[in-house]
Amino acid sequence: MEKTGSDPYSNAVTQLKQASAILASSYADKKEAFEQIIERLQTPDRVVQESVEIEMDDGSKNQYLVFRSQHNDARGPYKGGIRFHENVTLEEVKALSMWMTWKCAITGISYGGSKGGVVVNPRELSRAELERLSRAYARVVAPYVGAWKDVPAPDVNTNGQIMAWMLDEFERIVGHHEPAAFTGKPLEIGGSLGREEATGKGGVFVLLEFAKRIGKEPSDLTVAVQGIGNVGSWFAKLAVEAGFRVVAVADSRGGVRSKKDLSINIDELIEHKKSKGSVKGFRGTVALTSEAFLLQDVDILVPSALENVITPEVAKKMRAKAIVEMANGPVTPEADEILWKRKILSVPDVLANAGGVTVSYFEWVQNLHGYTWSKEEVFAKLEPLMVRAFDQMWTTHEDKKINLRMSAYVGALKRVVDAMLLRGR
Ligand code: GLU
Repeated sequence: MEKTGSDPYSNAVTQLKQASAILASSYADKKEAFEQIIERLQTPDRVVQESVEIEMDDGSKNQYLVFRSQHNDARGPYKGGIRFHENVTLEEVKALSMWMTWKCAITGISYGGSKGGVVVNPRELSRAELERLSRAYARVVAPYVGAWKDVPAPDVNTNGQIMAWMLDEFERIVGHHEPAAFTGKPLEIGGSLGREEATGKGGVFVLLEFAKRIGKEPSDLTVAVQGIGNVGSWFAKLAVEAGFRVVAVADSRGGVRSKKDLSINIDELIEHKKSKGSVKGFRGTVALTSEAFLLQDVDILVPSALENVITPEVAKKMRAKAIVEMANGPVTPEADEILWKRKILSVPDVLANAGGVTVSYFEWVQNLHGYTWSKEEVFAKLEPLMVRAFDQMWTTHEDKKINLRMSAYVGALKRVVDAMLLRGR
């Protein structure tokens, strides 16, 4: 197979090519059109890149690089979050936008895929500076976003407040209200109940299905969650509520494992991290380095932070029996091959963390119709979509004897290719 490494975009293209090789025989009578579509899907439809200047509180000026990548909109408006991180690159944003195309196709919501990013460590900004940067981002992307064009949302280090500033700036420019142009908003300005915990909730629905397929009860399974941001902390909390034994949790500096392999109290752990700056030293636990955390003996490993944590080296040595990818792109394609040979199943990001964008879709629907759904209604709508997507992936996995990522990808890619064909693109 092709050599892949830490460039997420070349990893995303490799995954696309692998899936298209499996799917090609279904399009034998449209071979040329199929190949052209696959070629086109290797490059985003549009990439916006600009440097914006922000006034800092002390009167000085700083420049920040901002991106928006719109990968494909054959199935509906582009959809995807915006991340604020010092290591954001154009290649990463392009990869993430392609992954959004597959993610929306897998759950069947009528969106394409996009992603945005700003190269910044938001922790170094004051609240006023963060607001100025968020508004500047909205000004750059305003011509390209909108309820029926491209709908941004939160991602790593962004949240409802940032969406509120961006929406406000966008609405000033377009001159009318358009709440459905951004999702992940605070409730007061059109956000949806359940959006904040949606990614974690969707991941737990997926983990419950996975447990059934491998014939286990939640209480039989020990779980280690790497990452304690919005996704990891909600996933861990809701997994404990669902009966799984979340025995280990890590932040970016290392992790902790329960001495007696009991579930960790996630609310208390978050409080501990707030006051001590790290999860280390939490009562009843032992500390683990970041590397040891990934290699520990546990049933389910749940990377919930950034890309490329499961490298070939980790895949060779890890002792977890399965992976649920709550982060985007945590497993490299070469690591995937090793996991498959070692019979370690990895439930792919494009399904496992699709609960976030699916509830974003429900938020958009509510905004377009002026509805307000209860949290129970939102989760009652989320569960069947996640379960159906899981079933489709699992059936393909069993029929074709391919890994879970490729099983999810071929279904998603087929939907996108069919939409492209119908549009005559
Ligand atoms: N940033 C989330 C993701 O990667 C959610 C995107 C959205 O809601 O549009 O799936």
